[in-house]
Amino acid sequence: MNRIALVDVDGRNFPNLALMKLSASHKAQGDAVVWYSPLFSRPDRIYASKVFSFTPDFQDYAAGDPEPIRGGTGYDPAVKLPDEVERTLPDYSIYPDWTSALGFLTRGCIRNCPWCIVPKKEGGLQEVDDIERIAAGRKSVVLLDNNFLAADEEFVREQLEKAARLGLRLDFNQGLDARLVRFWNAKLLARCRWMRFIRFSCDTMEVLHEVRAAVEVIRGAGYRGEFFCYMLVQDDLEDAEYRLRELVKLKVTPFAQPYRDFSGKAETTKAQRDFARFANVKGGKLCLKMSFKEYYH
Ligand code: SF4
Repeated sequence: MNRIALVDVDGRNFPNLALMKLSASHKAQGDAVVWYSPLFSRPDRIYASKVFSFTPDFQDYAAGDPEPIRGGTGYDPAVKLPDEVERTLPDYSIYPDWTSALGFLTRGCIRNCPWCIVPKKEGGLQEVDDIERIAAGRKSVVLLDNNFLAADEEFVREQLEKAARLGLRLDFNQGLDARLVRFWNAKLLARCRWMRFIRFSCDTMEVLHEVRAAVEVIRGAGYRGEFFCYMLVQDDLEDAEYRLRELVKLKVTPFAQPYRDFSGKAETTKAQRDFARFANVKGGKLCLKMSFKEYYH
């Protein structure tokens, strides 16, 4: 039996799927798995995972402990789990407060947005799992797919119909691609149960029109729940403010994110951070009462 120690470098606010799969895989081989402690672990092997490039690295390893095996986009997007580990269902016991199932139905993306690492890391779209297998008896499922609606129509239908039939509450927490909403998938999305929102992204003015159309067609298909929209804040704050106001008028909850280059080298600017604060307070509704300039002056 090996002693395996894990380091979630980003912190434990959101479960790290790779560590959960590594834990499950090692436990299936009879190994003991613990969170790394420089004082107490005495591990045979350490896995350190870091999702975000801007998270400071964990350095506090005890002398004599093995060099950690590092993975995750925050270290090196090219590092991948072995296939057999990737297929393992996660070990939820290492995040005992987390109650939803977690996984990917698809990997990759059909687009190539210049700020995004997904196509470089994962390539084009691949269908990789099944909603019932991911749920594994849990009633809510958080899906980390980057562009689920870009999968084949047959796959999208099969997965959403199954989710609706099983009564699963879904959250595509990276957002769905509004440009791919059509009446047939809108009807399926409207039939599903949602953990709270249907989420989209609205990173440019062109996509704003697509988000507006997608919200209308999904509401038209009978959806009565809420919408949420990530919005990238680059240097043009007037553009961002226009998108923000239009989303709020559509009764979509915005979530502004200052632009970060995926290598983690470019810092966000103070103006972008201030704008995100203005946009995210009170679900964005401040922008209907005052402009960003008025808020800060
Ligand atoms: S659509 Fe989303 S996942 Fe795909 S490249 Fe653009 S930002 Fe990345």
